Amino acid sequence: MHKSAASSILLRRVAYGDYDLIVTLLTDRFGKLSLIAKYAKKSTKRFAGILEPFAALNISFSRGRRGGLAVLQEASLASPFPRIRTDILATAYASYWVELVDTWLEEGHPQEQLYRLLDFTLKKLDQGQTEHSLLSILFQIRFLRLAGMSPELGRCSSCHCSLEDKRQERLMADHASGGIVCSGCSHEGGLHLSLGTVKQLQWLGRGDLDQALRIRFSQPSLDEATSFLENFVPYHLGRSPKSLKVLHQLRGGTVT
Ligand SMILES: [Zn+2]
Repeated sequence: MHKSAASSILLRRVAYGDYDLIVTLLTDRFGKLSLIAKYAKKSTKRFAGILEPFAALNISFSRGRRGGLAVLQEASLASPFPRIRTDILATAYASYWVELVDTWLEEGHPQEQLYRLLDFTLKKLDQGQTEHSLLSILFQIRFLRLAGMSPELGRCSSCHCSLEDKRQERLMADHASGGIVCSGCSHEGGLHLSLGTVKQLQWLGRGDLDQALRIRFSQPSLDEATSFLENFVPYHLGRSPKSLKVLHQLRGGTVT
């Protein structure tokens, strides 16, 4: 039996028979990992009820020689995120982020940067000093880059002209072409974005995470960027996350 330890964030859990849970985690060292937590369903004492969605956990687990599902041996709470858990909107954002990671990432591929990103945004969400929507924009734009699905933000994704050189008044989101189209290529009925919003998205996508959050978004820019990403991400992921529907309902359907 080989034993390993990791820092992790719980993405999902499902019941397995009458006694056990299968937990899926994003770890710092091993990427996404599914483990069987024996007796966790039957007895809350076994893991002290801490195997909750988006909980930050220090874990140890073991793999048998003959393969099969690895077994969760110990788990302790690294961060309880009390503010997220008592705020239904914050919970919806956290649920959306973990669902994105779980949907996109396959097991067995180390993704330390993605782990750092999720850990960072959950901590900031719990601190409660940054707007939820700004954190979600940061998470989505960085997630898209790590997943190799970044939108093209510097050039028109149709005619490839620079979005910065000309007077661009009516930029438009165009998910199928992978980003934003220029005034000349835009048409009626799409989601329009200001050049300012596009530049702010570029800023959020680069460099140090803490530094990226120093940017000031106006409310219209936050709304534009939110609409853009919450349509772009499902389009390129190939499915609409369930948690995104919940998020839209909670926000009162202002962003579609
Ligand atoms: Zn164009």
